[in-house]
Order: sequence, then structure tokens, then C-alpha cells
Amino acid sequence: MGTTRLSNLMIAPMRDGEPAYYAGDLFIEDGRFVEASAEPPARVIDMTGCIAVPGLVNTHHHLYQTLTRGLPKAQNAELFEWLTTQYPIWAGLDSEMVYWSAVCGLSELVLSGCTTVSDMFYVFPADSDVKLDAVIQAAKDVGVRMHAGRGAMSLGQRDGGLPPDSVVQDPDTIMADVERVVAAHHDPREGAMTRIDLMPCSPFSVTSELMVMMRDFARANGLLLHTHLAETLDEERFCLETFGVRPLKLLKDLDWLGEDVYLAHGIHFNDEEVALLGRTRTGIAHCPSSNMRLGSGIARVLELVDAGARVGLAVDGSSSNDGGSMLAEARQALLLGRMRYGVGYSAHQAMELATRGGAEVLNRPEIGAIAPGMRADLAIYDLTDVAYAGAAMHDPLAALALCQTTRPKHVFVDGRAVVQDGHLTTLDLSQAVRRHNQLARRLVEKSTLATR
Ligand SMILES: [Zn+2]
Repeated sequence: MGTTRLSNLMIAPMRDGEPAYYAGDLFIEDGRFVEASAEPPARVIDMTGCIAVPGLVNTHHHLYQTLTRGLPKAQNAELFEWLTTQYPIWAGLDSEMVYWSAVCGLSELVLSGCTTVSDMFYVFPADSDVKLDAVIQAAKDVGVRMHAGRGAMSLGQRDGGLPPDSVVQDPDTIMADVERVVAAHHDPREGAMTRIDLMPCSPFSVTSELMVMMRDFARANGLLLHTHLAETLDEERFCLETFGVRPLKLLKDLDWLGEDVYLAHGIHFNDEEVALLGRTRTGIAHCPSSNMRLGSGIARVLELVDAGARVGLAVDGSSSNDGGSMLAEARQALLLGRMRYGVGYSAHQAMELATRGGAEVLNRPEIGAIAPGMRADLAIYDLTDVAYAGAAMHDPLAALALCQTTRPKHVFVDGRAVVQDGHLTTLDLSQAVRRHNQLARRLVEKSTLATR
């Protein structure tokens, strides 16, 4: 393949001890950044006027929810009502729907500069052909680095949970499938394109028994653990009424904190809980847009970072964000951060959260920054776009989070150009959107027929 040289660009390395950005060239070989060599590169791409940042890392998503984005009945609801409105619709999912929604959701993310995605897929309706493999195939087809979450729900309404019994599974069925997908897809090696993380959904949809089974399997096999936690005050009340403890105490008692654990949202923590998350180096996936969209609250991002927790950024599921732009999410993190911290929260911090913060949450030291030896995951934005006019001259890195967002001009994942001149190179996106939208309509029609 030889070396590719990206010349004449601004580079934001996101590394301690280095400038926030500088003018220079980047060299890519065999999927990694390399030092400039004496030999002439096989390929030179002129990047004049552009800025390169490490590929953005999305630490929490539900790609299948692209099918129910903007659903009228769920537009104006808080989390529990939003969920109970959609569970019966999601009960009609099939594998083809899961595949095309993942293709669309991942394409949208890549077209915002995102190169690594953690997705929690947790709806396995009885008598359906739904498998996690559909999400993994979509990630391969789009060309994105994936942490595919084998999600699960095991606590149905019959047993005091929130989801209907038609979408929960028994723990033995879940664990058999966990073993299958890990054997088939999990790659523990540095630079892996596919990892499997274990993701029991939330305190109100999962039994403690399953939490323990997944914990033990993950720790025996070197897998990461992920769940939703402290997203809403309804969840806090549910935990106090059902288990007699606050959500984080529930996890602590289950030995479910640490460097191999990351939690989605993490909004409603008190000072003691923030300190515990820091001491245990637990990860947090901060989801500002979704938290605003559902009116859930504002996470204590800076206190968590100061305490020592690992904090990254995430868009959360497609139907509680209704967008899938990681660059827009950095801007939301900045603006929402200002609501809590005033001007003490900076645009550079928001971009750090979106890059190296996410890499830390997913325990991926080989991504999230630009340096020789690291994997060549890159988002390259055109600073001559009118959106950055002015700001590009003063602080091109801050411009990305402060100004209105644009699509990246180029995106590289593991050295491969997945976006070129603003377009996906890996698949026909308009055809994918067409098929996805047919299936989105069919999914809602199925649930209307079922309730008639
Ligand atoms: Zn979520």
C-alpha cells in the first residue's frame, strides 16, 4: 500500500504536552500514523485549508431507533413514557430493519466525523429473527470501528419492570447468545474493528441475576460492561421503591463499578457518588442532546472528570436525539456545560470529550489522539466553509465546537478513506435511506395492526 501523506493541514493532536493545533503534514501507513520517512510517499493528498482531529468517538447509541425517530406520540414525553410508547412498536423489529437502521445511523455518524461507535442493542422480540449480527454487519459495510453491545432486558411488566413481557428474554437464553456472539465476533486485539461489550439495559428492565451473570462472563473474558444509570429522577424513585437503594448503590452492591465499566448518562449523582465513580475510574457516556430532548437533567461533567472518572461523549439513541452528529454533540456539550459551569467550560474541553475522552471510556488507547503508532482514525473538516469564516483564523479547533457544524470533507478509519469529498465511499446512501424508510413505515404499521 505504501505511505499516504496528507499535506498542508492544521492538526489538532489532542495530546498532553502538545499544542492544541499546529500546521503540518500527516503520514499514514498500514492503518497507523507514522513519522515522515525519507522515501517518497505513494500518495499525496493536498489538504490546504483543512483541520484534522482524531476521529470522534460515540460512546453510547441505539442505532435501531433511527426507525422511530421523530415519532409523533413520543415527541413530547419524558423517558418512561417515551419508552412505554415505543416498546410495543419495537416489538415488531426484524433483522432487516435492524440492519438498515444501523446502516443509516452509522452513515450519519461517519458523515459527522465519528469513527468509533458503541451501540447498545437490547430489543430481541419473542419469535423474531433479530440478532446482534445485523448491527455488526452494518458497521463492517459502513466501515466504522464498532463496540457492538449485546444488550438485554430480563425484567418485564409481569415481574415489576417497565418493558412489556414480549420484549424481555430469560437469562439463560441471553447468556447463550452472549457466548455465541462473543465467539463469533469479538476481537480483543489492539486496533480491533469489532468488539463485543455486555450491556444489560437499565435498572428498570433487568434483573440483578442477569447483571451478575453478565459481570462474571465479562470479567472472565476481558469484555467491557455498560448500562444506563442515573438518567432520570423516575429511575431513582424506581430503584428506591424496588431495591431500597439509589441507582449507584445498586451497582456498587453488584460489584459493577471499575475500569471495565461505563455508564450512559450519569446525571443524578450526589457528591459522594461522584467521588466513588472517580475512585473506581468508572466511565461515563455524557449525552447532552438526549438529556435535553427528554428533559432529564444536566450531568456533572467537570466534577466527574476532576474526581477521576473517565468521561466521553455520546449522541444516545436515534429517537431520543433525533440526530446523529458527533460534532453537533460536542457543540451541545459545550452549550449545556455553560448552563451548569458558565464560561468555565471551554470549546477545547468539548472537543477533548468527543475524542480522547471517548477513547478512554472504551479502553482504546490506540485511538482518540493523533501520534505516530496510533491508529489512523481521522476527521478532516474544511475550514474554508462559510460556517467557520472568521473563527478559522483565530482558533480553528474551537471553531469546530463553537460554530455551526459542517460535514467533514474526509474521514479515515484505520487508514481507510470512508468519506471522501463529503461522500461515503462504502455504500449507496440514498438507496439505504429509501429502504430504511420503507421499513420504518412498515414497523409502525405492524404495531397499529397488532393493537387493533
Ligand atoms: Zn441510551
